[in-house]
Amino acid sequence: PARSSSNSEVAAERAPGESPLARPRPPARASDWSPTSWKNKPDPQATRYDEPAAVERVVSRIEELPPLVSSWEVERLRSLIAEAQLGRRFVLQGGDCAETMRDCRAGTIVKKLDILLKMSLVLLVGGRRPVVRVGRFAGQYAKPRSRPTELRGGLELPSYFGDLVNGPEFTPEARRPDPERMLACYQHAAMTLNFVRSFSAGGLSDLERPERWSLSFSERDGLPAAVRESFQATTRQLGDALRCMDALGGAGNELSRVEFFTSHEALNLHYESAQTRPAPDRDAYYDLTTHMPWLGERTRVSGGAHVEFLRGISNPIGIKLGPTVSPVDVLRLLDTLNPGEIPGRIVLITRMGATRVGDALPPLLEVVKRAGRRVLWVCDPMHGNTITTSSGVKTREFASILREIERTYDAHDACGTYLGGVHFELTGDDVTECIGGSVREEDLSRAYETLCDPRLNQAQALELSYCIARRMRA
Ligand code: PEP
Ligand code: MN
Repeated sequence: PARSSSNSEVAAERAPGESPLARPRPPARASDWSPTSWKNKPDPQATRYDEPAAVERVVSRIEELPPLVSSWEVERLRSLIAEAQLGRRFVLQGGDCAETMRDCRAGTIVKKLDILLKMSLVLLVGGRRPVVRVGRFAGQYAKPRSRPTELRGGLELPSYFGDLVNGPEFTPEARRPDPERMLACYQHAAMTLNFVRSFSAGGLSDLERPERWSLSFSERDGLPAAVRESFQATTRQLGDALRCMDALGGAGNELSRVEFFTSHEALNLHYESAQTRPAPDRDAYYDLTTHMPWLGERTRVSGGAHVEFLRGISNPIGIKLGPTVSPVDVLRLLDTLNPGEIPGRIVLITRMGATRVGDALPPLLEVVKRAGRRVLWVCDPMHGNTITTSSGVKTREFASILREIERTYDAHDACGTYLGGVHFELTGDDVTECIGGSVREEDLSRAYETLCDPRLNQAQALELSYCIARRMRA
């Protein structure tokens, strides 16, 4: 890849006023690592493409295309996470389980930004901490599966591995892994991100007048009156505070800037490594398909391809931790993925399930604390609480989700550690995928649209953010 020292990226990275927490810089890459060294390691979720030459062709094309994000944006997120690790910020991460190309539509994207923004306001005003917004979007197209194939009516086909790999329809053509999809998804990620950026620059982000947002609720949203009223009070409070700070000389500026970062599971390593390149001014590599890739519960095996890939890039990375992970596993992952103790590098996303979190989480908190490792703890209360109804629908109960959050807070309080963020599967659309609020089990079929895991709708997501804000202040 080209390295130009007169590139504007260099100037931007040395911008004055950058937080000192952005230092130290990531170390030079290990000499035994390259963007493709993962190819020598086992990949438990490897895609079986029929035609390796076609994969190579697509990868070469993606290598030539401009990156989706820049290394200085990635560094900015890292410095914000570093501050969150010190208890000064809170991270809100959310979006679809499986993003789809079909859903790359203005209305759907706007509603997703809208709900993330509303939740972040509730957390900011209620929890009294600046909130870093990280979307599961512009690249969340690849899904790990527990089974490589699916059997229906005597026909066995590959499972749906997300739009990046194959199509959801249950036909041999749709389910065949097609490398061209990587290029199509890359383009859809670019369109999504372009739209997100244009909104961050104006449009939706009129934080000076947050009161106006309450208007975007419609009766149909099924929002309980109490939540609706609380939100109106929250926006009034924030509007007053921002205008007051403005009058005092513009201190509200940083708070009122609406920034969104992107994240997705770094699962298909052909796609990730095609856009992994060195920063122009130093020997540090960045995965420029997203600001924050994460390592999934099914691919965090030590010695595996995904850990190998992630150890060489400088992005902040998330690590999903389920109830079977041992304290030793966690320390080993930290040693491999952050040997230099870079601030802001590691986000540990626990997804234990409401019934297991009380036993599974405390030993991890203790061992990381005792080892003095710097991490950001985030709670994903979705993935440990998936159930199947008697009629075979995959769902999650609001009550279990809330219970996992409460018990996660209890564990952090007991250990003296900071819960610095939450991770949700949600959508701004009025879906009926999780049970709770106005959605009962018999309502699930009304608007069940997800291609993978069930998501919270707007009303459910907002209600949860009030519960979290209360705990943040307690
Ligand atoms: C996900 O976030 O959609 C996911 C598959 O999570 P996990 O790896 O934690 O199961
Ligand atoms: Mn999911």
